[in-house]
Amino acid sequence: MVVVGAGYAGQAAAVSLARAGRGSRVLVVDRRGRSGYPPSSTSGIASYWLEQLGFPPTPDAVSSPIRSFRLVVSGDPPGTERVLSAGNPLAPELGVVLQEANFLGRIEAEAARAGVAFWHATHAEDARRKGDVYEVDLRETHGRHAVTASWVLDAGGYDSRISRRLGITRALPDEDRHNGLEVSVPNTGQHPPDRVTLYLGDWAPSGYAWVFPSSEDGVAHLRVGIGTPLSVRDARGVPVPVRKYFDGFLRDFPEFHLPAHHRMGGVIPTYRPDRKLHRGRVLSLGDAGRMCDPLTGGGIHQALASGVAAALAVAADDPDGYERGLAPFIREMRLRYRWKQVLLGMTTDEVRATMDALVEIRLPPGRFSPYAMRREALRHLRARGLRPLRILWRSNRLWKAVAG
Ligand SMILES: Cc1cc2nc3c(=O)[nH]c(=O)nc-3n(C[C@H](O)[C@H](O)[C@H](O)COP(=O)(O)OP(=O)(O)OC[C@H]3O[C@@H](n4cnc5c(N)ncnc54)[C@H](O)[C@@H]3O)c2cc1C
Repeated sequence: MVVVGAGYAGQAAAVSLARAGRGSRVLVVDRRGRSGYPPSSTSGIASYWLEQLGFPPTPDAVSSPIRSFRLVVSGDPPGTERVLSAGNPLAPELGVVLQEANFLGRIEAEAARAGVAFWHATHAEDARRKGDVYEVDLRETHGRHAVTASWVLDAGGYDSRISRRLGITRALPDEDRHNGLEVSVPNTGQHPPDRVTLYLGDWAPSGYAWVFPSSEDGVAHLRVGIGTPLSVRDARGVPVPVRKYFDGFLRDFPEFHLPAHHRMGGVIPTYRPDRKLHRGRVLSLGDAGRMCDPLTGGGIHQALASGVAAALAVAADDPDGYERGLAPFIREMRLRYRWKQVLLGMTTDEVRATMDALVEIRLPPGRFSPYAMRREALRHLRARGLRPLRILWRSNRLWKAVAG
């Protein structure tokens, strides 16, 4: 089996195959020189998912706990403090920010101990069917060669070629491709060390800016970033680069405009997954399969889940079992694509009312699935007079939501 990509999805697949006793038959190739480095994500994730999916992080893989969320909308009256937290100081943290290289490095070490082979600095360029097997073209510093595999797990992220070449996925519309940019700056006390703040509205049209707590080399830092889609255009119809919005955000919040420990960025697919994510024995995982959350841009837990589901399908020699195993996640992401249409159709005042409603939610004690909060969120939205269908109709997004 060849796993393309040693990110969250690829590592989850490799270690799950190793845990099923198949390690010695797995080759993982990744173009990065080292797993998780340089980082490709802010790496915030609900603790529930790490526990539920079988990847509890070791302390060195946690950059920071997350205990509360603050939601800010441009034009908020001064003094607005919209905070969602577990409330009880003894409650477990809501989530964590991972140290990507340590988290993935640990998983890789476990898989390698069970016989999985890892080839870093190796690009997978193409894959084609040859009778009962697949030939995968690889390129490394020393040249090119091909390997033969009975399964290909494509976990090459958003721009993975293999899923596209084999017709499993297509290029995404501009509105569903967010560009993300992030800098990691010292936390000099300007932001609570265990809080995430999200900024919506004029700072990031059709997207949002964020501040996540982290630590770099043992020193408290903040991952300050922004994501806007390629569809955002100025009055002349010219696409506005995300960099421009980031500069504007940093002008409004100069406390985050500090020398960067590191920078990163990339495309965040905010489309929806198809119901079928494989062709033959080629499975499309994580961002390659468009499993990233259309509403929040978070894709780590779905990437891990798709790795686990892919390994189960391989172990059972049942490619169709992949979508069955991943069904709750595919369903949720398709539903969230509809909610994304509602959010994009809202006026700034409606976004404000929505955020007011969200912080009224009472979080359950203990670790909980964020999916389980949907019904309560909807109740609070309705109580504030928000009518999703009316918003979809008014903004001409109803057909998109229905098609999704
Ligand atoms: C700026 C930014 C911030 C984000 N923040 C969050 C967040 O806080 N929480 C969250 O849940 N999600 C976040 N996301 C989304 C999240 O990072 C992705 O959904 C997640 O990383 C998907 O995992 P993956 O394994 O599918 O893909 P990736 O993590 O992209 O991994 C793909 C791997 O494949 C390798 N690769 C790619 N092409 C090839 C090739 N041809 N040959 C060999 N190797 C290849 C890459 O080197 C990489 O290691 C963020 C994304 C961005 C861009």
